[in-house]
Amino acid sequence: MTIFSKIIAGEIPCYKVAENDRFFAFLDINPVNWGHTLVVPKKETDYLFDIDDEELGEMMIFTKKVAEAIKKAIPCRKVGMAVLGLEVPHAHIHLIPLQNEGDMDFAKKISNPSPEKMMEIAQSIAKFY
Ligand code: AMP
Repeated sequence: MTIFSKIIAGEIPCYKVAENDRFFAFLDINPVNWGHTLVVPKKETDYLFDIDDEELGEMMIFTKKVAEAIKKAIPCRKVGMAVLGLEVPHAHIHLIPLQNEGDMDFAKKISNPSPEKMMEIAQSIAKFY
C-alpha cells in the first residue's frame, strides 16, 4: 500500500480538497506555492502514463475541476500542471497556482507551512469544487 493509498483510506491525515469514486485531491505537504495540490487515482499505478486511456481521461476531467476550484480560491494567473513521480510510486498530478514561471520551481518549497494556513487553503479550494 503506498503512502497515498493510506491517505485515501484515511490512515494518514491530509488536507483534503476533493474526492469522487475514482480520484482524490489533497494539498502537497511540501508546497512549492500556496494551493499546491496533488490529484491521485484511488487505484494504485506507479507511473501516470501506464494508466489506461479511459481512466486517464477521467482523471484529467477530475483534475480540470480541481484546477478550476484552485483558480477561484487562490489569486493566480493560471494553474500549472506537472508530473514528476520521482518520490512516491503512486501516480499523481501536481497542480500549482502560478503568478510567474518561478512558481513552478520544485527546488523551492515554502518552509514550514502552518497547519492552520494549510487547512484554510484546503477548505477554501474544497468550497469551489
Ligand atoms: P514526486 O513523486 O516526485 O511527484 O513527489 C511526491 C510529492 O508528494 C512531493 O511533492 C511531496 O511533498 C508530496 N508528498 C509526499 N508525502 C506526502 C503526504 N503525506 N502528504 C502530502 N503530500 C505528500
